[in-house]
Amino acid sequence: MQTPQYQARDRAHHLHPFTDFKALGEEGSRVVTHAEGVYIHDSEGHRILDGMAGLWCVNLGYGRRELVEAATAQLEQLPYYNTFFKTTHPPALKLAEKLCELAPAHVNHVFFTGSGSEANDTVLRMVRRYWALKGRPGKRWIIGRENGYHGSTVAGMSLGGMAPMHDQGGPCVPEIAHVAQPYWFGEGRGRELSPEAFGRQCAAALEDKILELGEENVAAFIAEPVQGAGGAIMPPASYWPAVKEVLAKYDILLVADEVICGFGRLGEWFGSQHFSLEPDLMPIAKGLSSGYLPIGGVLVGDRVADTLIDEGGEFFHGFTYSGHPTCAAVALRNLELLEAEGVVDRVREDLGPYLARRWAELAEHPIVGEARSLGLMGALELVADKAAGTRFDKSLSAGNLCRDLCFEAGLVMRSVGDTMIISPPLVITHEEIDELVRLARQALDETA
Ligand code: PLP
Repeated sequence: MQTPQYQARDRAHHLHPFTDFKALGEEGSRVVTHAEGVYIHDSEGHRILDGMAGLWCVNLGYGRRELVEAATAQLEQLPYYNTFFKTTHPPALKLAEKLCELAPAHVNHVFFTGSGSEANDTVLRMVRRYWALKGRPGKRWIIGRENGYHGSTVAGMSLGGMAPMHDQGGPCVPEIAHVAQPYWFGEGRGRELSPEAFGRQCAAALEDKILELGEENVAAFIAEPVQGAGGAIMPPASYWPAVKEVLAKYDILLVADEVICGFGRLGEWFGSQHFSLEPDLMPIAKGLSSGYLPIGGVLVGDRVADTLIDEGGEFFHGFTYSGHPTCAAVALRNLELLEAEGVVDRVREDLGPYLARRWAELAEHPIVGEARSLGLMGALELVADKAAGTRFDKSLSAGNLCRDLCFEAGLVMRSVGDTMIISPPLVITHEEIDELVRLARQALDETA
């Protein structure tokens, strides 16, 4: 089929996520037809380096036969069965076992979901249930962060701090508040504060919010170890230690959303480990199956799990696809491969430092105000005037322009406003990182 035919058929019936339907109808979708390794191919015959691992998820890269075989074998054996009503099956129990082996020592249980959004819906219900069981039913408020992303379901978008999402289809779930994000380049810079002082200031804002709401009313704080969709925002080193102190002081649960940071992205199995966090709950998805099949879950620390199990009775919550056997079999194989191939260690010891070195070179570019990376996640902040550090006029949509020029050049890079983001498959090679940096520079030159 030719591209215009694909586009016409797509336009006729398909409402895309996070898309201006009308504009897409006029411009037409890009049609991705197949992929291998770190490359996708489109219907025009272009081979494009996928600097975003799909949607931050194809950690093992495309075209892994082992995952296809795991899915096929499971589809033949038991394509579907549920895990409700006192039933289980080998893929779900083996995956739960494996996840708890990889997770920090205080995490020994998992609740399965079909996606990251469902994982965060589960989080919301679990933390409120936990405090009710503890005899403190007033502890219901959950504090998230401005510009945080926790999914698109009503609970997910309410926990997230993306104002445009709140404005559509609200109201949000009550008793959720948001505090400042530790986004130095966007919100700390230019205020005569060091990044470290800014990090502490953001943690202090959390404490202020807890006091405003009343500590007896606050159940949990939810945050991504590194904010992904908000702009690959790596917090100043002072931030997480100060937040941990605040949470401990007021006995508030920590939910570390690992949907992006989990499964090697930051060079550890979980982003929390990079920052020495001990979260009570860790929503997961995406890299859990390298995106080959949809699956998510919540890793539940002993404090919450023991209470739910010992004191909770029936938890009226779950999804048809909780622990879906075929998805679980693929996720298990994915984890086995990540482990057997030493992928996570390689990100920490080799690929992350290599990307950091090459990525930092882009900081010299005339329209780049900051180039930052951690593990295999990176961001570039576009600026109109490098010396003054001023942004482009919003009407220019410099980020979107740069994103489109990247695609033309043969690289998928995402834009969040004027922040350009990469999050490539974790199996990328040095040569492919070189190519990624070369293509990004070419697109920056063309944007300038
Ligand atoms: N949490 C985080 C940190 C995410 O980045 C995402 C998706 O991008 C989600 C939750 C929602 O996951 P899903 O799209 O699988 O529902």
